[in-house]
Amino acid sequence: MKKVVIIGGMAGGCKIAARLRRLDPTAEITIVERLPFVSFGTCGMPFFVRGDVDDFNQLMSTAWGTVRSPEYFLEAKKINVLTETNCTRIIPEQNKIEIQDKLGNRSLLDYDFLVIATGSKPAMPKFPFPRSERISFFHSPLDALKLRKYAEQGKLSNAIIIGGGFIGCELAEALSSLWGIEVVILEKENYLVPRSFDTEISSLLGKVMEVNGIKIYTGANVEKIDEKDEKCLVHFNDNILETHFVFLVTGIEPEVELARNAGIQIGEKGGIVVNSRLQTNIPNIFAAGDCIETINLVTSKPEIFALGSLANRQGRVIANNIAGINDEFDGAIGSISLKVFDVIFSSVGLNTACAKNYGIDAGFALASFYDRPHYYPENEVLFAKVLYQKGNGRLLGLQMCGKGEVSRYIDSFGILLKKSSKYLDLLDFEHSYTPPHSSPLNPLNYLGGIIQNQEMFGIKCVSPLEIHKLEYLCVDLRKEDETEQMPFELGNITVDYDHFWKEIDKIPRDKKILCVCQKGPRALEVAIYLKQNGWEEVAYLGGGLQMLNSSF
Ligand SMILES: Cc1cc2nc3c(=O)[nH]c(=O)nc-3n(C[C@H](O)[C@H](O)[C@H](O)COP(=O)(O)OP(=O)(O)OC[C@H]3O[C@@H](n4cnc5c(N)ncnc54)[C@H](O)[C@@H]3O)c2cc1C
Repeated sequence: MKKVVIIGGMAGGCKIAARLRRLDPTAEITIVERLPFVSFGTCGMPFFVRGDVDDFNQLMSTAWGTVRSPEYFLEAKKINVLTETNCTRIIPEQNKIEIQDKLGNRSLLDYDFLVIATGSKPAMPKFPFPRSERISFFHSPLDALKLRKYAEQGKLSNAIIIGGGFIGCELAEALSSLWGIEVVILEKENYLVPRSFDTEISSLLGKVMEVNGIKIYTGANVEKIDEKDEKCLVHFNDNILETHFVFLVTGIEPEVELARNAGIQIGEKGGIVVNSRLQTNIPNIFAAGDCIETINLVTSKPEIFALGSLANRQGRVIANNIAGINDEFDGAIGSISLKVFDVIFSSVGLNTACAKNYGIDAGFALASFYDRPHYYPENEVLFAKVLYQKGNGRLLGLQMCGKGEVSRYIDSFGILLKKSSKYLDLLDFEHSYTPPHSSPLNPLNYLGGIIQNQEMFGIKCVSPLEIHKLEYLCVDLRKEDETEQMPFELGNITVDYDHFWKEIDKIPRDKKILCVCQKGPRALEVAIYLKQNGWEEVAYLGGGLQMLNSSF
């Protein structure tokens, strides 16, 4: 009979225990968790705060409504769960861990296999701030409970969120949409969710938030937080903002102290180093979830991916290996999804900043399209930015947003990314098509075609955010009614796309030309015609003016 001890009783830890029980009916499985509960759906926290999830227990319930309590684990699965129990030491030479219960009693637990699934902790901001009831992280289920109570008691009328990553944005929506709390986000970088998005997609995210009343300061360098007269004063960039409550959501760090103290190897990114079987350097100690380093399959370098989806998959791999079924976890591509005010923002792979950090020369294409044929009564606009490696054409990443089927394309792209596919593979991507769901060519097919045209004809894609900085002569190909609806004055000339060949001579040959239209396709097509007919420097506005002016 194997003795298996798991430290950490949330996504990774519980997945391992449940899978292992199915594979090995005799294993003695113990989960050690320092919080007062186990198997909590952390990713649901923003939706509990918002009120979409009414009861805290729902985030710990099975699909059939049973709360996954320690008693449930014991009765239904023969798994021992020790809550409010802290693991204080791993003693690998004796195959034991030291634990401490809530009364302070210490004891030892034996194991044949140990799994470290200790997750992550909030990254400590570098600026000074007082210990205060009014300043909180948003990481633990206890943070969500406290916040929901405050909101229900009407104790919060405004809040500042420091950190505009995906959790900061989800929290901002949760606070402002249901509870009407005035929310300000302070983000250090120049755009929101800087680890996953580029400025174009991020600026659309910012607009959605601002239209819904959230105030955003980017490039905000917080210097300190003071507390005065039951208020917090947040000092940044020579400004001082006053608020009832501050949330610190500036990132996470892997929780690795126990492992480090036990001589387990920690990598350069600060996570536990594991092999593809998810074993640490001590063969009978495995690790999973936010506490480990995972190979980024695009860069082949280790990275910290704090994602519940990965923790669950890694849990399964570990359980298989402990049960004697050889299994491997090759790495990840970092797919994330975020819903704010009914608009979905997703990304997979590298964004431009990451590609640059790794010294990868990234080309890009921007596009906007409808998720269904234009004639279909309900269709939603989608915006996308795709990155590929210059020279070999390998796909690097995709960012997409809209109210339509964003995740479908992000996930399909992810499969291609894992196979080191090239942009031409996007053209071969086969999808199920019916007008209520998609167009005959889907966004991935279009993106492949756009990059192919850019590369084949030597046409540059210009970002709508760059349009005011460039020294191009803009050729506006829109119809009169489109121009009236969305005026755009950059000393441009107007050419009627529907009669393009009659008007081609209006376009000077000695200037750099930027073709502009509403969504992008007309501009790219005309750019190709110009290139074929001897114009030298030709670019088109990727995603069109719609990308610049849209707010969903
Ligand atoms: C607000 C929020 C929203 C999120 N949304 C998403 C999302 O939409 N999609 C997504 O993919 N991911 C999301 N995540 C990330 C996701 O929740 C984590 O990646 C996932 O929970 C990691 O699982 P884990 O088992 O590795 O760690 P955790 O879930 O952090 O669990 C680790 C557990 O170990 C316990 N522990 C640590 N040290 C000890 C010790 N010494 N003794 C005993 N117990 C210990 C901790 O108390 C903790 O309960 C979100 C995270 C947050 C905070």
